[in-house]
Amino acid sequence: MQSTTPTADDDDPRDESILSIRNLQTVFRTDHEHIRAVDGISLSISPGETLGIVGESGSGKSVTARSIMGLVDAPGEVLPESSIVFDGTELTELSADQYQEVRGSGVGMIFQDPLKSLNPVYTVGNQIREALRINRGITGQEATDVAIDLLEDVAIPDPERRLDEYPNEFSGGMRQRAVIAMMLACDPDVLICDEPTTALDVTIQAQIVELLQDIQAERDLAILFITHDMGVIAEISDRVNVMYAGEFVEKAPVEELFANPKHPYTQGLLDAIPGTSVDDERLNTIEGDVPTPNQPATDCRFAPRCPKAFEDCTEVHPTHVSVSDTHDHSTACLLYPEGKSRTERVEHHRSQAPADTQGGAQE
Ligand code: SF4
Repeated sequence: MQSTTPTADDDDPRDESILSIRNLQTVFRTDHEHIRAVDGISLSISPGETLGIVGESGSGKSVTARSIMGLVDAPGEVLPESSIVFDGTELTELSADQYQEVRGSGVGMIFQDPLKSLNPVYTVGNQIREALRINRGITGQEATDVAIDLLEDVAIPDPERRLDEYPNEFSGGMRQRAVIAMMLACDPDVLICDEPTTALDVTIQAQIVELLQDIQAERDLAILFITHDMGVIAEISDRVNVMYAGEFVEKAPVEELFANPKHPYTQGLLDAIPGTSVDDERLNTIEGDVPTPNQPATDCRFAPRCPKAFEDCTEVHPTHVSVSDTHDHSTACLLYPEGKSRTERVEHHRSQAPADTQGGAQE
């Protein structure tokens, strides 16, 4: 029998986690509304582990990454109830200068567009050497030698020559490799990858994923991998959190998620993978768009698009419940816990909602 205890998101506060986030809330304030881009999510990652966050554009994935990095600009704000602990340090309490020290050497980030990280007026070598100087105190010939080694590590051919080239002389895939080399120069413990393969063709995409896996194995890196692509998530993740409208709606180990998806949104994402449709001529899609939440959730935000929605879905905010006896698998949907009547399920979620940190947190 599955547990009916809500896991909320305090499901796996692993002692060994290097990054632990609790009740992260990031809002963007305008004159008219507060957009709740990230609405009470929690997660933890251990060294050597890859946690995937998957969801459509606008679900809050990138804002999550920028919140962790301390890169949310006004009118955005990480609310004070949020907790982001990296290696025992509460990042939300750091000054801008202290945060800058963590960024790069503690937590590094790779963006979809490598040109966001590379300065077009400096050679790739100069930029890697600068990262080595700032983060590891390495200068001169030693910095050049280490930079060559790093370009070799990320499989850039002829690294001595490439060191003196500018970013615009690199192809898209090579630029992303150069950014990864720059990130390695900082020697981070956690790497946040925000759609790093989205702009690349599938062959290069596969090479970058393989490269990240190799680097992770060598360095025991914790990776938070953000993408809208379920295929990439399947390749790289150990565990997956499915994100929708600022909240996590399902969390599971990767094989379990693909074998046994529970949330209708996850099921829709999997059905939309090309080649999985029964009718191969037609690509399945999830009708409609991700809403922009501007109020604390009092319903299921997926209800307007959900093929399994029923009346209560517009009145009760689902909390996370365990949906497996054998895996750390939870989902936030009024269809669960299984084996109970609809009335019992709805009452269970209704009774849990005020304590839930998944989306019901009040400003
Ligand atoms: S709570 Fe209702 S609307 Fe939301 S995913 Fe579950 S069945 Fe669909």
